[in-house]
Amino acid sequence: MRQSELFTKTKREAPKDEEAINSRLLIRAGFIDKAMAGVYSFLPLGFRVLKKIEKIIREEMEAVGGQEILMPTLQPKGNWETTGRWENYDSLFRFKSHYSKNEYVLGPTHEEIISPLLKKFVSSYKDLPRYVFQIQNKFRDETRVKSGLLRGREFIMKDLYSFHATEGDLHDYYEKVKKSYYKIFERSGIGQSTFLTFASGGTFSKYSHEFQTLTQAGEDEIYFCEKCRIAVNKEIIKENNFCPECRSKKLKKEKAVEVGNIFKLKTKYSEPFNLMFKNDQGEVKDVYMGCYGIGLGRLLGTIVEVFHDEKGIIWPEPVAPFRVHLLEFQTDAKKIYNSLQKFGVEVLYDDRKDATAGQKFADADIIGIPWRAIVSKKTGDKIELKKRSESKVKLVSEKELVKIA
Ligand code: ATP
Ligand code: MG
Repeated sequence: MRQSELFTKTKREAPKDEEAINSRLLIRAGFIDKAMAGVYSFLPLGFRVLKKIEKIIREEMEAVGGQEILMPTLQPKGNWETTGRWENYDSLFRFKSHYSKNEYVLGPTHEEIISPLLKKFVSSYKDLPRYVFQIQNKFRDETRVKSGLLRGREFIMKDLYSFHATEGDLHDYYEKVKKSYYKIFERSGIGQSTFLTFASGGTFSKYSHEFQTLTQAGEDEIYFCEKCRIAVNKEIIKENNFCPECRSKKLKKEKAVEVGNIFKLKTKYSEPFNLMFKNDQGEVKDVYMGCYGIGLGRLLGTIVEVFHDEKGIIWPEPVAPFRVHLLEFQTDAKKIYNSLQKFGVEVLYDDRKDATAGQKFADADIIGIPWRAIVSKKTGDKIELKKRSESKVKLVSEKELVKIA
């Protein structure tokens, strides 16, 4: 893509009321725009990153047998009364129709839709297990939205739901999804700073698990064991003061953000919706359910919190908007742009005639594309190549550039 055609521009300043590093950098670099507190648009650069994250998540969900659907955002009040959450869900957006008595919910999660939905198709043990996921906008009337993409009032979530005949089968699948979450966070670049964290499972199971990424921007605190790479959250540390794996009491306390979680719902939602099946003995039983969430925007924001310096973002390669940022100075790099494209290298080509060298350098730093390639009179027929994460530069030929990048 030619930068001269990109409708967004980088900004010197972030909005005054924007406090978080992730959103300040993402707004300045032109990845997102703030529509109001807790609500953002994804602009061309941000949308490309979002699509890469989405692809990673979708591939891993399909690898654990997930079937993708899209459920409605607008949900009927009745379903929420059935589960008791019309009254009890704190951050629920509720509203009335202007011309009828109908009341609605803007979906903050989808148990109230997926459970009656599966009821229409599941009646026998032969219909189980089933795994269904979606990637969709959620709405929550969060009280505090000062963390940029880490906590929005509208945000994109991947939510997977699983349906089982037995608790044992739910358990086995839960372990499988746990592994797939490790892969997702590894592939997104934050594997090193993300910890499986034991959390309380309420009254329904002993533990649930959160995936927590260490960052000062996080609103949570975790206590982690460096040896086992496992953590416990605040509630659990009060119960047991040790690592659930090696029982060591040497746990480190640090701030973290929950990028995903997995939860055994058991029969919490199948019971109110009468989601039942006939087992092989002909007995009617409740379906066991699990739910598994990841916030895509929160993950994107977390990546920025983990990977940036004073000049801007430093994208991990698998989620970067482009692979190469090609800058030209008083010369024409069109030939190299075309050849990179021919070889399928994703490239942002800074072909702007009205931008100074200083502006081009500053833009490359804040946008944070992994490889910066400069073509100028000084470099002749060579290209000056530098990684955003390193300071060393080298001169390479066009052929070498295509190979390295
Ligand atoms: P938190 O404790 O941070 O509010 P939660 O327990 O409410 O999270 P879930 O309801 O389990 O979160 O949602 C699943 C995932 O959706 C979370 O792990 C997180 O990645 C993401 N998420 C939840 N709330 C928000 C939000 N307000 N903005 C952005 N992402 C969110
Ligand atoms: Mg919440």
